[in-house]
Amino acid sequence: MKALPAEFAAYSWARSTRELAARLGLDPGEIVRFDGNVPAWPLPSSRPGALASTLADVQNYPHGGYTELTDAIAHYTGVAPENVVLGAGADDLILLCARSFAGPGDRVAIADDPTYPLFRIAANLAGAEIADDEPVVTFACRPNNPTGALGDLPAARPLIVDEAYYEYAGETAADTIDDGVVVIRTFSKAFGLAGGRVGYALAASETAAELNRRQSPAPISTLSAALAEAALADPPDVSAQVEERERLARGLRALGLEPLRSRTNFVFVPVEAPEELGGALLRSGLVVRVFSDGIRASVRDPEDDDLLLEGIARALDRPAPVAPAGRRSARHLRATAETRVRVRLALDGAGRVRVTTGAGLYDHFLEQLAFHAGFDLVLEGVGDLETGEHHTAEDAAVALGEALHRALGDRRGIARFGDAVVPMDDALARAAVDLGGRPARELRLELDPGLAEHVLGSFAQAAHLGLHVESSGRDPHHVAEAAFKAVGRALRSATRLEGTGLPSTKGIL
Ligand code: PMP
Repeated sequence: MKALPAEFAAYSWARSTRELAARLGLDPGEIVRFDGNVPAWPLPSSRPGALASTLADVQNYPHGGYTELTDAIAHYTGVAPENVVLGAGADDLILLCARSFAGPGDRVAIADDPTYPLFRIAANLAGAEIADDEPVVTFACRPNNPTGALGDLPAARPLIVDEAYYEYAGETAADTIDDGVVVIRTFSKAFGLAGGRVGYALAASETAAELNRRQSPAPISTLSAALAEAALADPPDVSAQVEERERLARGLRALGLEPLRSRTNFVFVPVEAPEELGGALLRSGLVVRVFSDGIRASVRDPEDDDLLLEGIARALDRPAPVAPAGRRSARHLRATAETRVRVRLALDGAGRVRVTTGAGLYDHFLEQLAFHAGFDLVLEGVGDLETGEHHTAEDAAVALGEALHRALGDRRGIARFGDAVVPMDDALARAAVDLGGRPARELRLELDPGLAEHVLGSFAQAAHLGLHVESSGRDPHHVAEAAFKAVGRALRSATRLEGTGLPSTKGIL
């Protein structure tokens, strides 16, 4: 093999979630990653159904290239298809640009320091050295990783601009591709497809043609191309992420820290002892990226970001700017061929509840149940709603039940039994629960708007609940809603902590 420059340092990966969990003695579901600069959750378009027709043809090569995807990217970015070069993530295109523009004996300039390490790696792999005088090509990361800053576009040409975080910043150099600029983008960030490995470069048509001549024949899998195409049919709106980034930054400032102004989906926080802080966060399952002068944390969503703020407050021994979540909690992911549901549940909550699966009425009923139980619940999911609400509503209920079962742990100290009577206009519901661990369901809803009894039954089964419900009235929606509220109220009593022992005369559950 050809020798690499003595200073060459290969890309080094963070440890896998499974490995971290094993080392920390945690469940993999308890590891929350703030170190990948990716969204907490895939886009709704990334689901099994988006892959079905491609999977049926997966024995074939992508004959003729990826014309549909290339056309969709051209449309999304406002260039022509002949300006587009595909790659397995932005990384593949960085490597392609480096080996296409630079070779042994050449100098490559890199605009910022610190910046994304792959520019240096790619230049070294091409045999070039890093230097600012008379470079054959210049790399710039805009906005920059790890600082999040959006700097000026360097005047150097040829110039490769890494716009991995373009969607968050909203500023691009794509209108300068005919002036010696190559823009690199990715589906890993705003499009939530980091595992799919899809990226693209935008370049003047002759440059794009030369890059394509040097690219491998089939750089991305047809399955990844299908996911990227499905995502482009409804590109993400990142405004909520941007708002959440600012909320997280305010929370960090409330802790006396000074996060750098960011135009991306992460924040860089200068701290005095980054290793120590990163280590303390890691022991609670919170993974951030540690640098010599600070930590970098990806923006996830309000619930996860509050965990991070609480963790930092604990580690620095400062008062938390947010109310800490309950101790008895569970994070749970349920994925089937039809649905994908993620649950975060805290039993000792404050009724902070959000259920979004698209199965409208049942989302509403599960919210009622959790709210009246006094839980904090975030339940998000996507399902094959085109087949109706059945799979989605059922899997949401099962996922919630499984999360409740996990959050109850060994069930020590709980009241175990609970009951409630809840009226709702014309309807009256009675519910009684037994958390003794023996699943049983006796459900009698006089009227059912469709799946209410089935959803309650699926929940009870998954949570190992004994559940009795009777509900009567004249309006099916009221009959069902009163039933879900009554189950919530009954659970509020049954999950209450009363002591330390097992709630059974048998001494076992
Ligand atoms: N460029 C920058 C600036 C990045 O931060 C990253 C990922 N961390 C990448 C490129 C790699 O993106 P991809 O997953 O598309 O290879």
